[in-house]
Amino acid sequence: MGTTYRVNPFKEDGDPTIVAAERAARPHSARSHTEVSEGPVPAERAPAFDPTCPFCPGNETETPPEVAASRPTGTAPDTPGWEVRVVPNKYPALTAPPGGRAPGDEIVFAPDDIYDDCDALGLHEVAIHSPDHGGRLSTIGSAALSTTMQMWQERLEAHRDDGWPTTTLVVNEGREAGASLAHPHAQLFATELIPPLLERELWVQDRYHERLGRRLLDDVVTAEAGSDRHVATGGPLVAWAPYWAEVPYEVWIAGREPDSVSGRFADSPHVDALAALIGRVTRAIAAVAGDPALNVVVRDVPHAGSHTARWHVRVVPRTSIAAGFEIATGMRILTHSPEVAADALRAEV
Ligand SMILES: [Zn+2]
Repeated sequence: MGTTYRVNPFKEDGDPTIVAAERAARPHSARSHTEVSEGPVPAERAPAFDPTCPFCPGNETETPPEVAASRPTGTAPDTPGWEVRVVPNKYPALTAPPGGRAPGDEIVFAPDDIYDDCDALGLHEVAIHSPDHGGRLSTIGSAALSTTMQMWQERLEAHRDDGWPTTTLVVNEGREAGASLAHPHAQLFATELIPPLLERELWVQDRYHERLGRRLLDDVVTAEAGSDRHVATGGPLVAWAPYWAEVPYEVWIAGREPDSVSGRFADSPHVDALAALIGRVTRAIAAVAGDPALNVVVRDVPHAGSHTARWHVRVVPRTSIAAGFEIATGMRILTHSPEVAADALRAEV
């Protein structure tokens, strides 16, 4: 059974919901992280190996066959020895294209149809960061993180070559961040539509560029790097708590300058610096915010076309819960200013 997009006709531009009922059957092992607290909480260290975990070495046959891996020459696919392993999600949120509509075909939702839907075509892949079951972004080390990020770049290139317009790349750590399995992994969603939030952000950045002749992210990075929201600098990259943070200890990371003509993450030469800086930032968040569950979003630009946007990373700790007001209004109430957050993070990073 495939998955479908459904659109809410109350929303003018129709953010689709993906209905993927089969994902309800997936196993759950991710631990619940503690509520956010002031000061450090000793991290609960998961074991390095869990015999019941489908992502642990030795259990390779419990996932669909790998589509890519970083592994020593001489080791066979779907056997132990890998450093990073990419497999199709066993419970995909998107329907693999069986034919019919091709990647890149335009989808048009009918604004007057209250039951509008269509197949949600795409690829849903899992990139297992590390053979270490208990590893986290904050603990697996910058060399391992850099290896996994190079694999992310390879998969983004493969998705582009296969004609997918864009890929959404995220890491969920901890149950409150949406992780179902504890073993560290990223998820890549190649979709045939540009996700609505990304499309709006691209549009806003293009308008900014039209008005001022400059890239929005360039201006933001320049301003924030010299502000009291600056958190850390790592070679060509800078990390800061954004002025408009939606949750306490939210941190963005971007190049101080564009690092490619395309602005795509796959074309960035700075994965080593990014791996090191994400490690520093996530360790600092764990130290000052009680080791919260968190999401990392690699905000990339579409695979094709010319954009005034460029890649950056958003680290979003689950330090607050969207309540009724947020659901009703789409606005967030932030109880912990980014200036205070950055001050605390700077002391740890
Ligand atoms: Zn595992």
